[in-house]
Amino acid sequence: MGRLLLILAIAAVGWYLYRRLQAGGPPATPGQSPAGQRQPAMLRCAECGVHAPEGSGVRYQSQFFCSPDHLAEYLRKHGQQ
Ligand SMILES: [Zn+2]
Repeated sequence: MGRLLLILAIAAVGWYLYRRLQAGGPPATPGQSPAGQRQPAMLRCAECGVHAPEGSGVRYQSQFFCSPDHLAEYLRKHGQQ
């Protein structure tokens, strides 16, 4: 009797998962944002070339930097203060 219940439970879980996949499509995975959500603009750091969200870095004149450190580094390399 215990085995029958176990088999029924497994079948119920399998059916539930099957229905969920049929109804909802592929499950959302971390790192993938749902469609329609606004993405921050990704800008390229003029110092290291890394793309960073606009809000997470700093702007100087027409350049973008991923961090204040890289702005300082850029200014140091280019002889500006
Ligand atoms: Zn950088």
